Amino acid sequence: MNKIFVIGAGIGGLTVAAVLSKKGMDVTVLEAQSYPGGCAGTFISHGYRFDAGATLAGGFYPGGPMDLVGQACGIATWPTKPADVAMAVHLPDGTVFERSTLSTDFSKIQTFFGQPGVEFFTWQQKTADAMWDLALKLPSWPPTSITDMIDLGKKGIPWALRRNIISILRDLFGRVADHLEQSNEMLRLIIDGQLLISAQTTSDFANATYGAAALDLPRRGVVHVEGGMGAISQTLVTAIIANGGKVIYKQKVTKIRFEKSDRMVIETKSGQKYEASQIISNLLPWNLAELLDENTPKHLRKITNKNIEGWSAFVVYVGLDGSGLSADHPLHHQILLKRPLGEGNSVFASLSPEWDRSRAPIGHRALTLSTHTNLRYWWDLLEKDIEDYAQQKNNLATSIIDTATRAIPGLSASAKIVLPGTPITYQQYTGRKLGWIGGFPQTNLFQQVSPRISHVLWQVGDSIFPGQSTAAVALGGLRVANMILNEPLP
Ligand SMILES: Cc1cc2nc3c(=O)[nH]c(=O)nc-3n(C[C@H](O)[C@H](O)[C@H](O)COP(=O)(O)OP(=O)(O)OC[C@H]3O[C@@H](n4cnc5c(N)ncnc54)[C@H](O)[C@@H]3O)c2cc1C
Repeated sequence: MNKIFVIGAGIGGLTVAAVLSKKGMDVTVLEAQSYPGGCAGTFISHGYRFDAGATLAGGFYPGGPMDLVGQACGIATWPTKPADVAMAVHLPDGTVFERSTLSTDFSKIQTFFGQPGVEFFTWQQKTADAMWDLALKLPSWPPTSITDMIDLGKKGIPWALRRNIISILRDLFGRVADHLEQSNEMLRLIIDGQLLISAQTTSDFANATYGAAALDLPRRGVVHVEGGMGAISQTLVTAIIANGGKVIYKQKVTKIRFEKSDRMVIETKSGQKYEASQIISNLLPWNLAELLDENTPKHLRKITNKNIEGWSAFVVYVGLDGSGLSADHPLHHQILLKRPLGEGNSVFASLSPEWDRSRAPIGHRALTLSTHTNLRYWWDLLEKDIEDYAQQKNNLATSIIDTATRAIPGLSASAKIVLPGTPITYQQYTGRKLGWIGGFPQTNLFQQVSPRISHVLWQVGDSIFPGQSTAAVALGGLRVANMILNEPLP
């Protein structure tokens, strides 16, 4: 029998495993930790259930990525409740701009940003609709290789999707900033803040079509997940097991050996060996290359020979006394202090819902605060001077809490538990090399990493299109599952 192994129980790995097991395939997921979810996991500490990274869930609307994943793997209901306000964006002058879910309030946009704002969001929505439609319905979109081009040509593109491509042609190589020329600084700052968390770059660099789709997250329906974000992964794990698949925890994969070109052996830290006929890696390309060692194919080496640079996250987990907060206080906030964004100048804050008693002791809330940070800075600091590292960690945590107090009144005083985490923490808990998070900055739509490494080796997760976020990674997993199902068996 064709034995499929998935390395990593992040959202990408679990999605592909859930879909393939539903199709009757023999699938086993090997996970290093004792719980699933990776960056979208939830962990328990001091009586609070903290979201480890991702806090804002979207894509559950009918026909959306999570709905399609549910249909493909037999999940009838997800443990979610709709949210009214997707997030409140706090500007340096104290103005608060709320992004609602499922719709865009154009009269509010007119008041805040005038006609340039209306024109920007009209373009953004139209482009996002076309892009999401293409990503959901066309497996080879965006074409990144001659094979994809041939595939698109062979299968033919339905007329409705061709119309989508025509409507975004002008923007395929453009930047989001091209559509902000008439806008005021307030709108530019909001768009840059939102792009940084959804496309890992700002409007001067973000590809226009990708950026438009990434900015659409609130309109794609934000939900609250009961039990925290980790409940999405738990639901996928339950589906895999119900479909006859397996999820084995505490199995850190240390090596992939090739016995023959299509027969592989996976070795784990605990000394287990698993024979696999297909492997799907839910790891970063750099981590996968370490497991493959001398068997790393040339095209993967091209990526992994480059140094990892760029973003990680600095996170502060706070357990707080919530008695000063109203039950309907918005749960997600982005606080923008000043440019350059990141490094504490922009902070994302997510509170556990008051109604979710599983997340905190009665009257308390679990809060996750995060800011983008340069990963090299923390590794260099740790190497040079461990005391300085600890001091800087404390300083940034205190400053982030001060900043978040703008959105969560009284936070500095109500915080009972404060647990800061750096890129080093991310590497430790998610295995991601140097704690690199968020995938590649989306500057060029046609420079995407291929999920297909060979006919027996695939990758899923936020390094491949459509990139980061639980919804995007789940959609990526679904697309890869469909590719594998269409591929002749090894
Ligand atoms: C601070 C932060 C905030 C975010 N906010 C949001 C948000 O609000 N909304 C949103 O949608 N997204 C958000 N994201 C992004 C989202 O969390 C990620 O894009 C997504 O969860 C990545 O999923 P993945 O499939 O790539 O796997 P990962 O999350 O990277 O999981 C990989 C899994 O593989 C396991 N593993 C690693 N090495 C091995 C090995 N050798 N053997 C076995 N197992 C291994 C890890 O333990 C882990 O469980 C955020 C991310 C971060 C870090």
